Amino acid sequence: MKARNGSRPRSKPLTRSRSSRWVRPVVQALHAYVPGEQPRIQGLIKLNTNENPYPPSPRVLEAVRSAVDGRLRLYPNPTAQLLREKLAKFHRCSARNVMVGNGSDEILALAVRAFVEPAAIADGTATFDSDGHSGRDRSRSTVQYFTPSYSLYPVLAAGHGAHVNGVRLAEGFTLPKPDVLRSSQSWDFEAALSLITTPNAPGGRAFSTAALEDLCKRQRGVVVLDEAYVDFAEENALRLALRYPHILVARTFSKAYSLCALRIGYAVGHPDLIVALDKLRDSYNVNALGQVAALATLDDLPYYRANFRRIKDTRGRLSEQLATLAFEVLPSQANFIFVRPPVLAAPQWLEALGQRKILVRWFDAPAVRDYLRITVGTDAEAKALVKAAREVLVTVGPGRSAGGRAV
Ligand code: PMP
Repeated sequence: MKARNGSRPRSKPLTRSRSSRWVRPVVQALHAYVPGEQPRIQGLIKLNTNENPYPPSPRVLEAVRSAVDGRLRLYPNPTAQLLREKLAKFHRCSARNVMVGNGSDEILALAVRAFVEPAAIADGTATFDSDGHSGRDRSRSTVQYFTPSYSLYPVLAAGHGAHVNGVRLAEGFTLPKPDVLRSSQSWDFEAALSLITTPNAPGGRAFSTAALEDLCKRQRGVVVLDEAYVDFAEENALRLALRYPHILVARTFSKAYSLCALRIGYAVGHPDLIVALDKLRDSYNVNALGQVAALATLDDLPYYRANFRRIKDTRGRLSEQLATLAFEVLPSQANFIFVRPPVLAAPQWLEALGQRKILVRWFDAPAVRDYLRITVGTDAEAKALVKAAREVLVTVGPGRSAGGRAV
C-alpha cells in the first residue's frame, strides 16, 4: 500500500533493524544456545540429545496420570517442599541444602545471577560492596568453565553481561592439574563462579572426586559441579557440596530418570547459597506434574538403577563395536559417547547417518568439530547405528579420506 503522496505509509511495520534498537546490546550480540533438534520423523533413531531410551517407571506414569484432574487449576507448591524433603532424605542432608529448579538449566542460570556481578557494574568505578572491593575486580564478574563443555555456559554468562573464562581441558579432554592451571595463569582461582561438568559433556569423561576436591579447595568463588550425567558414572562428588560452603552440585531428573519433558533439576549445597538461588527463582518455578513425577521416581529407584546398568552395558558394547570400525572412542561415564569417526569428516557422517534415519549430534566448534556425540540408546538402537556405520564405510570405501584419516 502506498500513501497518497507516493511516500511510504507511516504505519508500515517496523523492520527488525529499526525495532532492535530497544533490545539491550548484550542481548543483540548474544548467540543463543542451540538445543538438539526434536524432529518428528517416523522411525527416527534419535541419539542427539542424551535422552534416556527407557520410559519413566509405570508407577511414575500412573502418579502423573492420576494428578491430571481439576487440580490443574491450582498453583503448584511454590517451594516443591515435599520433593525437597525427599531429595534431602535421599542425599542424607537437610531440605535447607536443596533447591529444586525448572530443569538443572534453571539452577545454572540462577547461579550466574546470584553469584556473578554483571561486568557493566563491576567495571565501573563505584565500589559495590562494603568490603572495600573495587568495582574493577574482574574476577567478581567472571563465569569460568573448561572447554569443551556444556555450550549453555557461555550463553548464560554473556546474557548476564559477565566476563567469560573458558579454559581448555588437557590432552584427551582430561582435567588439568591445579599446578598447571596456576602456572599457565589461564584459570582464575578468584572467579566468582566456576562451572565444572562431571562427567563432562560432550567429552564424556568423569573427573575424579579427589581431583575435583583438590581444585575446588583452591577456588575463592563458588563452584557448581554440574552432575547432569553422574548416575552413569562410577563416583559422584555430592559429598563435596555438603562439606564445603562454596560448592554446589547440580543434578537433573532429565537423563537418568527419563523425565526431560517435566523439567526437574536441583541443587545441593550450603543453605546460604541455596537461599541466594531461591530468592531469584520464579515464584512457581517447578510445575505440579513434575513434582508428582519426581516424587514417584524417588519411590521406585530399583527400576531406574536397572536402566543405568542397561545403558552402561550398551555403552560398553557400542564403544567396542565402533572402535573395531576405526572410530576413535573416548572413554565415557555418561549416557553418550564422543567419537572421532574414520574416513569421512564428522559432518558428513552426521548427514550419512541422517539419511539412514539416525540422528546424532555434531558441534561446529574448533575443539570438537572432528567428533560426533552419540547418545547411548537401547541395544537395538546401538545395533542399528553400528550397522549403518558399516554401510557408510562400505559405500565410501577405505580409500576416500575426506576427514584426513583412513580406516
Ligand atoms: N548440564 C549439562 C551438562 C547438560 O548436558 C544438560 C542438558 N542439556 C543440562 C545440564 C540441563 O539439563 P536439564 O535442564 O534438562 O535438567
